[in-house]
Amino acid sequence: MIKLHNLEFKTYLAHETIKKAIEKMAAQINTDYEGKQPVFLVVLNGAFKFASELISQFHGDCTVEFVKMSSYDGTESTGNVITHIPLDFDLEDREIIIVEDIVDSGNTIETLINMIAQGGIANYRVATLFFKPKAYAKEYKIHYTGFEIPKDFIVGYGLDYNGLGRNLNEVYKLKTT
Ligand code: IMP
Ligand code: MG
Repeated sequence: MIKLHNLEFKTYLAHETIKKAIEKMAAQINTDYEGKQPVFLVVLNGAFKFASELISQFHGDCTVEFVKMSSYDGTESTGNVITHIPLDFDLEDREIIIVEDIVDSGNTIETLINMIAQGGIANYRVATLFFKPKAYAKEYKIHYTGFEIPKDFIVGYGLDYNGLGRNLNEVYKLKTT
């Protein structure tokens, strides 16, 4: 059990379990993008750890770009997606792999997909370490998923609760009493 700010979290996924899931995703991406030169578009802050592990297992040439977006306050989505660091690279004809820590309502990826669609991309796919299908309210296909999880609030492996917990190698779930 750990405590971040005022809340307690219990162990949910071990580092080894997370690493194995990322290896499987990387293997699939290597197959699908063989001979191509994708752009890994990493959504900061939460995806930094996942992205580092995933992208380091990509065998071909690729580029890596970043955007910074947020929509959460505490343990709840505000429904309002803020772009803190915008796209700043040439998207034309590029094959984009969006790298997200977690897809919840889908508001963030929707905003991002709308942004990249304006840049004349060749195509895009979404890779997310965590996906909450019961919270997802959009229709965009999620191509690569590490774990489908219930609608619980989690922290660790890049994910935070009001800024804390991103450094943890394991993932923890909010303790409900
Ligand atoms: P969405 O826009 O509702 O899909 O939420 C996506 C963003 O909210 C993610 O990129 C996370 O940054 C954050 N988020 C969603 N669920 C959680 C969670 O359980 N723990 C921590 N952050 C979360
Ligand atoms: Mg995120």
